[in-house]
Amino acid sequence: MIKVLSVTSECVPLIKTGGLADVAGSLPSALASHGVEMRTLLPGYRQVLAAQPEAETVFEVWDLFGGFARIRRGTLGEGKHATPLYILDAPHLYDRDGKPYNGPDGHDWWDNPQRFAALSLAAAMIAAHGIEQWFPDALHLHDWQAGLTPVYLRELGAAERVKTLMTIHNIAFQGCYGADMVYTLGLPPQGFTASGFEYWGQVSTLKAGIMAATKVSTVSPTYARELMDGSFGMGMEGVLAARGADFTGILNGIDLDLWKPSYKSPKGKEKFKAALREELGLPESDGPLCVVISRLTGQKGFDLLLEALPTLIERGGQLALLGSGEGYFESAFRDAALKYPGVSVRIGYDEAFARRLIEGGDAILVPSRFEPCGLTQLYGLRFGTLPLVSLTGGLADTVIQANPAALSAGVATGLQFTPITTEALEVAIHRMCDLYAKPKVWHQMMKNAMAQPVGWDTSAEAYADLFREMVGEGTDPEADE
Ligand code: ADP
Repeated sequence: MIKVLSVTSECVPLIKTGGLADVAGSLPSALASHGVEMRTLLPGYRQVLAAQPEAETVFEVWDLFGGFARIRRGTLGEGKHATPLYILDAPHLYDRDGKPYNGPDGHDWWDNPQRFAALSLAAAMIAAHGIEQWFPDALHLHDWQAGLTPVYLRELGAAERVKTLMTIHNIAFQGCYGADMVYTLGLPPQGFTASGFEYWGQVSTLKAGIMAATKVSTVSPTYARELMDGSFGMGMEGVLAARGADFTGILNGIDLDLWKPSYKSPKGKEKFKAALREELGLPESDGPLCVVISRLTGQKGFDLLLEALPTLIERGGQLALLGSGEGYFESAFRDAALKYPGVSVRIGYDEAFARRLIEGGDAILVPSRFEPCGLTQLYGLRFGTLPLVSLTGGLADTVIQANPAALSAGVATGLQFTPITTEALEVAIHRMCDLYAKPKVWHQMMKNAMAQPVGWDTSAEAYADLFREMVGEGTDPEADE
């Protein structure tokens, strides 16, 4: 077994702000049957420690950016899915009201550089010294929060022995801070160059990881290609292109046990749809009940949806949206709900409601301007809630467009639109409503969608192969047994 420590700032079921948490929470147990023993290191936020009251200290206390810290041993997941969890208990950094990256007032924590440098440094220390007699062969680093790990690993003299994979879940978050952070975070001054972690005069923790890690990956093959192209790289395209063959895309999977529909055939959805309509006070309608579960930010393309909404309504479609984020989108959707009886909007974060939406909806809309992988369309596929998505990133890799060829071959699972404009979205909405009006065709698509493999199997194997390559081992012939 290859030993890998996953270093993440969020992880289902303990703490989540987005898709990273789902991935970090489900990959460790998925890898177990592919020859990789993955353990996880997570900051000891208040919610995390409260959920793991029995976690005992297993790593000695040391001074970490202005306070004492210890590592506690907890458990991620349950039963046969349980894997070891290490919790970085540093009260001065994490024991606060609020969210992982911001306080109750919505502003980023002022000391985020220290908070996540601490996570990265703790990971490097575990790599260098082992923990509970467990010595990882590799570290799996998620996003800018873990980006400094390879830098610290070098400082501790362990970078040769312990390999690193830097995974980019969203290039929009680059961990950029002032140059004074070189000193504050104890970084080697000679690394503050274009080939190190310097980025336009600042420190970028993401760039640090991209430059110094053994390998770099992102969460879908299409996003990997897009990232090396100027329009999506958000300034990092040259840096990524420089990593060349060391940079790949591996599609996210979802936890099939956690996301399991209680119906096996398209007809089974009816009762959940009726219950959802009743819960939301939506009238019966001839068109599809469309759902959205999302952060409401510019990335997600909801300006297009707001503009195309009249088209959906005219065609008898409905919208049930759950989300929170930028005030502009929150109030625009609230206004739309007041204007149209077929629109229901709930501003907030609610996992149980998210599930009822996916269970009861006919279609799930993901009109993102860019989307590294996207998870809600995968949940949609699994529940026969057909995705209508923009043709970008992981959305392009996971939805099979209902064109005439795919329909007649019986493989279509959703709709894609390109270019990412209101007009193209409106065309796709018309097409969706046309298909919905033919129950046989729609049901066939639902069947195709529900049968599409969206679990971890293929991708867990791809990660396992990558880890094996990094640590210099050949493909494990027993991996699938
Ligand atoms: P991102 O990571 O960019 O936010 P993803 O689609 O990869 O987008 O993952 C988002 C995850 O967060 C999904 O699991 C989705 O169901 C969940 N989510 C987003 N917004 C909400 C919400 N308001 N309530 C509950 N879950 C949400």
